[in-house]
Amino acid sequence: MAGDLDAYTSWSPSPNFSSRTRSDDAAIVHTVESDLRDSLAVSLAGPDWFGSTKAGTSPHAIVGPVSRVGTVLRKFKSWAVGSPGNNITYNIEQTGRAAFTRAQWLTTEGLAQISNVALVIADWAKAKGATKPPTRGTRDELRRYANGENVGLRYYGHVDVTDTLGGTTHTDPGDQYPYDVLQAQINLHFGIGPTPTPVQEDDMPLNAADKAWIQTAITNTIRKEAGPAVWRTKLKGGFLNAGAGAALADVFTQVRKLRGQGK
Ligand SMILES: [Zn+2]
Repeated sequence: MAGDLDAYTSWSPSPNFSSRTRSDDAAIVHTVESDLRDSLAVSLAGPDWFGSTKAGTSPHAIVGPVSRVGTVLRKFKSWAVGSPGNNITYNIEQTGRAAFTRAQWLTTEGLAQISNVALVIADWAKAKGATKPPTRGTRDELRRYANGENVGLRYYGHVDVTDTLGGTTHTDPGDQYPYDVLQAQINLHFGIGPTPTPVQEDDMPLNAADKAWIQTAITNTIRKEAGPAVWRTKLKGGFLNAGAGAALADVFTQVRKLRGQGK
């Protein structure tokens, strides 16, 4: 893990890049201003947009609920936040819109995408030797980093760059982007997880039929609710993403209901 390409599910090179004179200690989270859909992450990376000079812009990677597509090597500037920000940033686009509500971000698809953004940020940080999860930086930290000070690895929203360094007028990923959820997902990659909420105990032991039912329900629910993203993420990242966690919580709720009915 922890190279330019290791976190990506595919590579779709963009011609929109140039040399940089500083390292990319600031990761920037963007929205590409589209519907939240994996097929858009893949198509926007291709020859009709970032893969063409006609776009005139680029991220280093664009992420959807399933795909993490690399487009520019980190040793180069991508063209995402203008000057002077492009020289010091690692830019990650995702599908979705800056106008989304928190609820729109926290759908099953949205959570799968956020877990993909987290994986890419974690990989970037580990490639730079981080042993602790990077956190969202303050604007003061961004300003100091732009002025040449070492403030450590931080991530920011594009809006933080706009308001601190100028370069563009963009406000993505929006006021309601769930940075708390993103941080929790990043933390998982560094072995920091939330304490699981214990399932309420009762006196009724599970019989063999109960156990078989639960096993089938878990498998089916995860497949249905989380789709291929969870299996891919588990494989690549070594953890279950938030979509799978929610699916498991549903299963446990159903089990408790069945017990309440005297099954
Ligand atoms: Zn942006």
